[in-house]
Amino acid sequence: MQINQKRYTHIIVGAGSAGCLLANRLTSRAQNSVLLIEAGAWDDGFWLKLPVGYYKTMNNQKVSRHFACEPSEGSGGRSINWPRGCVIGGSSSINGLIFIRGQHQNFDDWAALGNHGWSYNEILPYFRRLENFNGEDSQFHGRHGELQVSKLRNHHPDCSAWLDAAHQYGLPLNDDFNADTTEGVGEYHLSIGARWRSSSSRAFLAPAKTRKNLDILTKTLVTRVLFKNKKAVGVEIDQEGQKQVLHAETEVILSAGAIQSPQILQLSGIGPEKLLKKHGIDVVVDKPGVGQNLQDHYQMRTIVQMRSRDSLNNQIRNPFSLLRMGLEWAFRGRGALTVGAGQVGGAMRTDFAPTDQPDLQLFVMPLSVDKPGEPLHRFPGFTSAIWQCHPRSRGSIEIKTPDPTAAPKIQPNYLADELDQKTMVEGIKILRQIYKQPKFRDLWDAEIVPGEQVRTDAEIIDAIRKGGGTVYHPVGTCKMGIDAAAVVGPDLRVHGVTGLRVVDASIMPLITSANTNAPTLMIAEKAAEMILASSH
Ligand SMILES: Cc1cc2nc3c(=O)[nH]c(=O)nc-3n(C[C@H](O)[C@H](O)[C@H](O)COP(=O)(O)OP(=O)(O)OC[C@H]3O[C@@H](n4cnc5c(N)ncnc54)[C@H](O)[C@@H]3O)c2cc1C
Repeated sequence: MQINQKRYTHIIVGAGSAGCLLANRLTSRAQNSVLLIEAGAWDDGFWLKLPVGYYKTMNNQKVSRHFACEPSEGSGGRSINWPRGCVIGGSSSINGLIFIRGQHQNFDDWAALGNHGWSYNEILPYFRRLENFNGEDSQFHGRHGELQVSKLRNHHPDCSAWLDAAHQYGLPLNDDFNADTTEGVGEYHLSIGARWRSSSSRAFLAPAKTRKNLDILTKTLVTRVLFKNKKAVGVEIDQEGQKQVLHAETEVILSAGAIQSPQILQLSGIGPEKLLKKHGIDVVVDKPGVGQNLQDHYQMRTIVQMRSRDSLNNQIRNPFSLLRMGLEWAFRGRGALTVGAGQVGGAMRTDFAPTDQPDLQLFVMPLSVDKPGEPLHRFPGFTSAIWQCHPRSRGSIEIKTPDPTAAPKIQPNYLADELDQKTMVEGIKILRQIYKQPKFRDLWDAEIVPGEQVRTDAEIIDAIRKGGGTVYHPVGTCKMGIDAAAVVGPDLRVHGVTGLRVVDASIMPLITSANTNAPTLMIAEKAAEMILASSH
């Protein structure tokens, strides 16, 4: 084992959404000397930068790592595939670009669990600090951050008709989900600049990467954290087969995401004692909560066949429309090439909502596919989808072997809770009602998914189990809190050791209601301030 003599104050593991932002902020102080370590390569390549490139990159295993979940009853016995970015920028380099913070109450709920400092009013300044929003000024938005956040620049007639229909169904219009409330329907904000994806790499790492106090290692896997008297003192790495030890004088920060941060903790001896012993790992701290509390949004899509050929399914196949889209993107920074996963949608309360907050998120696209990342259907398709904002089902992540290159066992336990099932069934019924409103009902011919033959609640839940999937939002596996199951405290320090924090999506004690990139960036922004304050 080679020991690298260079001393760093901080080692950040994982250059994803959180890691890139942290690297920027920690190197803003000249006294710090920071090493950022990433398993993937640099994020070169056109498709990683073009917003619509999402459809190509998410399934490209040169830039994403695919984790096969354990089959479960909730997913009809299927193993669901979870891609995660494995490249500089992490999942922010391959994600669907939707930029939404979640309900204010989400953060108040975190604070109510004993996480002082994390209520909505306390975290709003961090959301503002990191963004450069191109919409109207308001107390909710920032203009001086590095992350470009833009209002939708592709107004598709089918999406506009769906918004009108949802309004006719009774949902209020909402022109900014990142302001007062997520409730209602409207257009999503996207993390794009004038023409290109604003990934965490492009926004935060690009301006910092030439700083003298930042070293970056790519194609390097951190295999474990090293401890001396329960203080993290460095990491062991595997760089294309070569093992090395690197030292951190102040802190090691895990930003490896909700799958791999708990995996690294378990490999390093922090986790459920029985599991660690089974794999011959020396126990540093018996922490049963590491890898537990896994939450994700399970999505079910409906697809209808439209009468007109406005669907992107047709337009992308037509060379003239494709050329028009290219020109619109190049000269005006607008049009279909400026979007990723979705365009419009919103949030609402079903009759099953246990609180006064929306329990259903809606998501609409003027196209259709069998699975995200697969070829567009040949018929003119339109998709509207739902997920439950706050699923009650909980899953887990556990190492299967002490080999750090092996994937851990992921059991998402989708739809294990009855309320989750009822909410999803209700959601499909609501989407069907929206399609039948006057503004939309004459625009389509047939329901393709789940299909008109699927009518009763039992048939709908069966279709959801067999046809639903992830929206790529795993969180919660190193949860923040003060209870026995918590892995980190409100300062994101790992309980039971010193010199080690976790800063990424895994620390969310409860999943936010919508997409998870914006809240992950906020977590990193707040963490950076705490880390800088503590090493002053
Ligand atoms: C296909 C897809 C679509 C999505 N769409 C959206 C969307 O539209 N809007 C939204 O808000 N959210 C979306 N998300 C979710 C969002 O991108 C994530 O919640 C967010 O990026 C998580 O950030 P993170 O920092 O926790 O982890 P990541 O960004 O995943 O970063 C973790 C990094 O750590 C690296 N790493 C892991 N283990 C090691 C190791 N042992 N050694 C070294 N490096 C390591 C990984 O390679 C990766 O680069 C999507 C995610 C995916 C995958």
